[in-house]
Amino acid sequence: MIKVFISTQAGQGSRAHDFCWVKPGEILMLPMGECSAGKPDDRCGCKRSLDGLESGKGTTTFEVVLMDTSEEELTQRVVARPSSIAPFISFNLAARHVRDSLRVAAQLDIGKVYERRGLRVLERVPTMRLADVS
Ligand SMILES: [Zn+2]
Repeated sequence: MIKVFISTQAGQGSRAHDFCWVKPGEILMLPMGECSAGKPDDRCGCKRSLDGLESGKGTTTFEVVLMDTSEEELTQRVVARPSSIAPFISFNLAARHVRDSLRVAAQLDIGKVYERRGLRVLERVPTMRLADVS
């Protein structure tokens, strides 16, 4: 059993520019590419999201779960995914990408909701808007 990132709807919307283009529970990886000039809150979103292993699409909220899989199996799935960029990914590049993603997930706690801010992964802390109180 290893820790992997999966998408969650929990916490979606607590930041105004949240998005989720992946299926609930889809395994997520760090993005393989980012634009060079982006910031976490820009229109692009590549610096505040993780990418779905199958879909290659992004989401801004995620959790860590224990899953009965392996680094090898996940690498095979990245190489085999029906994504437009898959033909350009070598096994070695995919392996390094999966290893980096699993290394980050391994340091995080199961059952918490996380978000990404550039190079940092943070716990998504529930927020309360004052307008919702009255
Ligand atoms: Zn970007």
